[in-house]
Amino acid sequence: MKKPLANIGILLLLIIAMPPLFFTSYEVSNYYQNEQMIDSIYTSQLESVIFSVNQYSDDIVSGWANQIEQDIQNADTSAAAFVSAFIKRNVSIRTVFFMCSGKQNSFHTLNTSRAFKTSGDSIFNGVLENNVAMIERLKQYLEAGYRKIQPVETGLPGYSLFLFACRDSGGSTGICALLADSKKFISENLGTKIQSVARDKFYLSAFELDSETEIYSSDLRKVSGKNFEHKQKLWLLPGYQLGIRLKGETIEDMVQERMWTNIWLIIIMDLILILAAFFVYRGVHQQMKLAQLKSEFVSNVSHEIRTPLAIINMYSETLEMGRIKDESKKMEYYRVIHNETNRLSGIVNKILNFSKIESGNREMKFTETNINMLLQQIIQNYQHHFKNEGLICNFYPAGHLPLINIDPDAITDATINLIDNAIKYSTDKKQIDISTGTDGNNIFIEVKDYGIGIEEKYQKLVFDKFFRVTKGNLAHKAKGSGIGLSIVKQIIIAHQGSIGLVSKAGEGSKFRLNFPIHKT
Ligand code: ADP
Repeated sequence: MKKPLANIGILLLLIIAMPPLFFTSYEVSNYYQNEQMIDSIYTSQLESVIFSVNQYSDDIVSGWANQIEQDIQNADTSAAAFVSAFIKRNVSIRTVFFMCSGKQNSFHTLNTSRAFKTSGDSIFNGVLENNVAMIERLKQYLEAGYRKIQPVETGLPGYSLFLFACRDSGGSTGICALLADSKKFISENLGTKIQSVARDKFYLSAFELDSETEIYSSDLRKVSGKNFEHKQKLWLLPGYQLGIRLKGETIEDMVQERMWTNIWLIIIMDLILILAAFFVYRGVHQQMKLAQLKSEFVSNVSHEIRTPLAIINMYSETLEMGRIKDESKKMEYYRVIHNETNRLSGIVNKILNFSKIESGNREMKFTETNINMLLQQIIQNYQHHFKNEGLICNFYPAGHLPLINIDPDAITDATINLIDNAIKYSTDKKQIDISTGTDGNNIFIEVKDYGIGIEEKYQKLVFDKFFRVTKGNLAHKAKGSGIGLSIVKQIIIAHQGSIGLVSKAGEGSKFRLNFPIHKT
């Protein structure tokens, strides 16, 4: 039976457990790729948000450039007034420089110190000198129809310079520069855009590139630049960058949470399937064991029936042939046939009893019974049998036992099964002790023999149907069907009682049937 069972186990493992296990390993191996995919989707989303802010800053400065160009063109002589008005309107702009048709001009905010004006002018001159090629390119771009805004390093802390080409009223191309207060530019000009793109989905902050100090944030909380996984430089303010983060969970958190949810689900699914496979395997194992026990039962019963049938056949044939003349011999033959017939009907009754109990068709007829008298009767009926087996049966009835509500026929069957076994498994000491008594709330019947005994590991199993001890030190060759003790167990369960078994190898066994005195 072991090999087909092992095959079933392997098959179950393949059918039930392997697919989810494959799926698990597939999921785990895919995890890294999935994580990268989700990460790249989110990264591009975040980048596009930052891009829109940068684009917006470019649009603002381009708008300023157009305005300044118009001011210069429309009011060539009084450009100063227009540009000054422009500076007043835009608080982040400190100075506007331009150089058109060889004329150089610079306009500062009203409260600008003389020192600042001088250093501003020298910065502009320095930029013109050091970036000749770039300025030439900006002019070419403009002539080609595109105005590029070029940020330039000023060396002046907190200030940014935006350089672009422009045309004066004469149509010649000059160069213009705006000196902006970087922090003001961020808070006054980019603030609304930062707020509008961040909404309640992201934290979006502008901070200094080196110190990572926050300049402006979409949120009231101060967040250091270190807390942002995604950062990008501001195109027009090289010393500053924008950082973005999802509000609440980060992408890593979400990917990890998703992975762990999946892994837990798979683990739970695997456990359920492995459990299911285990139960199916156990069920199949039990069914196969039962099938094997049933086939052993059929062969055991056939053997048990064959012996009395052969004896009856032989003795009746001899009598029929008229070979026996001696009357006493004849009587002895009749007695043998009678005994063997009784044995046969005993076996058949036992099987019928068993099948009735198994199918739930045996109805118990409870009646108030005197246990001592019932046992006295059973022992008396068995006296002849004891004598034939050369066995002594002692009865120790307890005094003053109360009447008890039992089915006397069923208890007789149970006791006879125990007595039969005591006779069957006895060895040299041919003695059976039967006693009654009370133990707490129970009345008990005890049947004790001095036979082969039952090994500890089999003591629970002997009450299972068809089970017989055929292995180990105490394996026996006695005939039997393996249903006697299971009948006893079922009868006692129907009486809400219990069975106790004490047995020692080679010393005998003691079976105790307990009945509750007050049944509910
Ligand atoms: P059977 O006796 O027909 O085999 P039972 O159900 O009555 O079936 O008993 C089951 C098994 O328990 C027996 O085969 C035997 O191995 C063991 N057994 C039962 N009673 C005794 C006993 N008194 N002494 C030793 N072994 C016993």
